[in-house]
Amino acid sequence: MSDIIHLLPDAVANQIAAGEVIQRPASVIKELVENAVDAGADDILVIIKDAGKTLIQITDNGKGMSPTDARMSFERHATSKITNAQDLFAIRTKGFRGEALASIAAIAHVELKTRQEDDTVGTLIIIEGSEVKKQEAVACAKGTSFFVKNLFYNVPARRNFLKSDSVETSHIVDEFQRVALTHPEVSFTLINNNNEVFKLEKSGLRQRIVGIFGKSYNEKLVPVEEATDYVKIKGFVSKPEFARKTRGEQYFFINNRFIKNAYLNHALVKAYEQMLPPNTHPSYFIYFDLPPNVIDINIHPTKTEVKFEDEKTIYAILRSTIKRSLGIYNITPTIDFETEATVDIMPLKPGETVKQPTIRLKDGYNPFAGQVANADLRKYNTIDDWQIPDADSFRTSSTEKNIHTSLNQTAFVLPDEPQESMLSNFDDNLGEPLKKTSYQLHKTYILSHIKTGFLIIDQHSAHERILYEKYIRQMAHHQSYSQQLLFPAVLNFSTSEAELLIGILNDLHLLGFEISSMGKNDFGVNGIPPELKENELQQSIEKILEEIKQQGEIRTGKKEFLAKVLAKNMAVKAGEKLGEEEMQHIIDQLFSCELPYHSPSGRPTLITFTLEELAKRFKK
Ligand code: ADP
Ligand code: MG
Repeated sequence: MSDIIHLLPDAVANQIAAGEVIQRPASVIKELVENAVDAGADDILVIIKDAGKTLIQITDNGKGMSPTDARMSFERHATSKITNAQDLFAIRTKGFRGEALASIAAIAHVELKTRQEDDTVGTLIIIEGSEVKKQEAVACAKGTSFFVKNLFYNVPARRNFLKSDSVETSHIVDEFQRVALTHPEVSFTLINNNNEVFKLEKSGLRQRIVGIFGKSYNEKLVPVEEATDYVKIKGFVSKPEFARKTRGEQYFFINNRFIKNAYLNHALVKAYEQMLPPNTHPSYFIYFDLPPNVIDINIHPTKTEVKFEDEKTIYAILRSTIKRSLGIYNITPTIDFETEATVDIMPLKPGETVKQPTIRLKDGYNPFAGQVANADLRKYNTIDDWQIPDADSFRTSSTEKNIHTSLNQTAFVLPDEPQESMLSNFDDNLGEPLKKTSYQLHKTYILSHIKTGFLIIDQHSAHERILYEKYIRQMAHHQSYSQQLLFPAVLNFSTSEAELLIGILNDLHLLGFEISSMGKNDFGVNGIPPELKENELQQSIEKILEEIKQQGEIRTGKKEFLAKVLAKNMAVKAGEKLGEEEMQHIIDQLFSCELPYHSPSGRPTLITFTLEELAKRFKK
């Protein structure tokens, strides 16, 4: 018998691929808008006619394409975003499969106009059913415009399968919003049948959410922010009282990519435990930033499912972060630092429930430790109210595929943009300056009132956080504070220490050390940070050098690392007696930090106890 296997012609292969990638007009919007973002555009216009069935136009002001690239872009597996398999584990762009344009061109009439900034003329390409009809030079604006007409013209089954215009339009709006939510720094416009549906100016995240979902969202949102060595989480969740009967706006983004994940949803909803009325759902907009090598996004053609290497850790961190954010939102407006010690403790009536959230941070447990908390998680799991379900029970489809890389503890660099502080809320509501008697417990903790109970601050962790943020600011603004020494000191170090020290002199200068090399291994010191005691100078610098040594070469985040080490060494220790003013200073300063709830190394800085918890303890 003769051989019967043959390769499919490109046009057919593309059409098959299109079946996976392009299911409806909304898929075209998603792919093309993502391409525009990947091309660095900061202004993106989407125009649709008849729910995209007649026309989808996407115009961006991104980097455009050369004539050759413009033609290449329609080939299957043609991409500028990855070059080898290794790159799959370092993806920061939205696209990488090189399938979208080939798929769209296989099932529609497509016109492309594109021009790179330095070119005087651009390129026009007309392609229909994978067949190039025209390619010529054209005058056009910098950037790229795609016109996609008559979608599924050659796949009648698909075309018939499309839903009513309003349903298809709502899918388009969904996709549009998902991209717009990940890029508040880009302006987006959506026009449907000549009606302007969205005009979103460049803004911050909160404004973007409000721009999309309406002004009422402004008061509904509680900011969420957490940064561990493994994952960064930021975003907003809705206050419990605004939970909706229908599933609200629920968005998870991983490395700025919208994903669906029932497991993480479970973690999030768990964090609301006992705060939501039955059968209601919170809204959330949660952004995870993870090293790209610990996630696999290449498990689904539309990339809305993602596999994590360590789902349980993310689960635990997410749940605990949300819980804390909600707790803080709840205690924030009522923090009471007034002098009277008479907090109104209302006895609970029988059957009465208190809706305040509780924050139960288990002693000694730290989900945010620099190490991925597998060992900790085991500990976690033995604690009954912290059971973490298995991710597998939440898996929806055939998305199993292993991640081949091992976890790499990448040090994160702080984000360029200052993230919206959790404390913006806090400050607004606090009003009065904090004045209050606090108590020091065992020369280690500071006890203070809040309306809903009381607050225990770990003096060392808290001070560490305060100093860390102060040092980071100093370094960022090149504004150091140093206390001049009456008699300049001369310090001597070992050669290897001296080498290390020379390497960080400039940074130390920004931190308040006025140190200069005097040759050999001697260093003269004229000024020191005000927190440092003069007689601990040599010892402190030795400690810093030792930590640098242990860390090995500091490649990224050198400044953060130094700030961390210095803060740890300068912060008041457990066992140090604090005066009232010092305690007050710590409280004040802590609550004006960007991330007050954890020390830079991830330990909690404070624990709250609610009256509800106390009342429970005093029950018969
Ligand atoms: P992918 O996005 O996965 O790379 P696509 O088929 O969506 O694949 O796009 C193919 C290539 O075409 C992209 O890698 C990019 O180089 C180029 N491209 C697509 N859209 C644009 C655009 N709006 N601006 C500039 N280049 C683009
Ligand atoms: Mg793409």
